[in-house]
Amino acid sequence: MKKIPISLIIDDPAPLVSVYAAHADTPFTKDGRPLIETFPNDLLFRFCDVIEKHGIKGKFSVVPMPANKGDIINGLEGIDQQQVDEWLDCVRTRVTPAFSICPEMLSHNKAVDIETGKALPLREDVWASTQDRTTLTPYITRALEILKEAKFDVHGVISPWYFGKEVEEEYIAALSKAMYDVYGYKNCFYFLHQLRGVPGGVKPWIAYEEDDRCVVSIPGVTRDWFWETIDSTRTDDEFISHVADHYITADGKGGCIIHELELGANLTVCTHWQSLCSNGLGTGIRALEEVAKRVEKHLSDRVEWTSFNELLETTINDKNAYRARPVSMQKIDIEF
Ligand SMILES: [Zn+2]
Repeated sequence: MKKIPISLIIDDPAPLVSVYAAHADTPFTKDGRPLIETFPNDLLFRFCDVIEKHGIKGKFSVVPMPANKGDIINGLEGIDQQQVDEWLDCVRTRVTPAFSICPEMLSHNKAVDIETGKALPLREDVWASTQDRTTLTPYITRALEILKEAKFDVHGVISPWYFGKEVEEEYIAALSKAMYDVYGYKNCFYFLHQLRGVPGGVKPWIAYEEDDRCVVSIPGVTRDWFWETIDSTRTDDEFISHVADHYITADGKGGCIIHELELGANLTVCTHWQSLCSNGLGTGIRALEEVAKRVEKHLSDRVEWTSFNELLETTINDKNAYRARPVSMQKIDIEF
């Protein structure tokens, strides 16, 4: 029997800068500690130890102009470029190729005036909601160019918040052109939709085809349960086990991974870099390791860790792939 792909979606990473701290509603965790504004490289190294040990694969964002603090090539405000370079080098050598690298647009904060590099007053997703392909194409092009300059091979983009949702046709046409212009790739993917608990299960679908170019939509199918670790100082084994239970219980019988597997979904498991870093404690990385161990123990004959580049390839080559978002999925996006 063919194994079901399982992929870990990691939104919001950037060299050191916490884009979450920059755009969060309050500068505090729910238990009242200040949100840290930078994540030390040690957390990235710990994460790499875990993904290498357990063969975890998926998608990892690199925000090119994180929180409007400059860009990853020319420097980030208040951050030593040597540390930025160390972070980028580690991602290039240890996170890829298991994880497909994507920009999460430019800043994951305020929209950027691409002529001047300055921040516009609107958040990127609010700005995008009234744009069309004539303005979205150069915007996405800039994001891809920065990652290309940082020597990443990129086959897709990630939507910060619900970037482009109101103008999705324009967004994906712009993405297809920008990807072809910058990297010369005719096929690419994007992550925008969250579709959970869908009867029959959710798989990526072909969202756009023009000439011989094609864009695949890869949806997420779980909530980010690691998020809880941001708001707690607990680091005991019982807490780690409790966080992992949301995805897969110790007996392998419950949790959203099991639920979605039973429905028939591709297992695109969502989290964020801030959730794994847990406001500096790295508790989320430990919970991720626990999830990976449970997946290994209970599901190794049924599922296989898969990068987004591999998911793109299998969707393009699947003659039965959905050619559009299935009608039954139209109204079930869930806020996250
Ligand atoms: Zn994000």
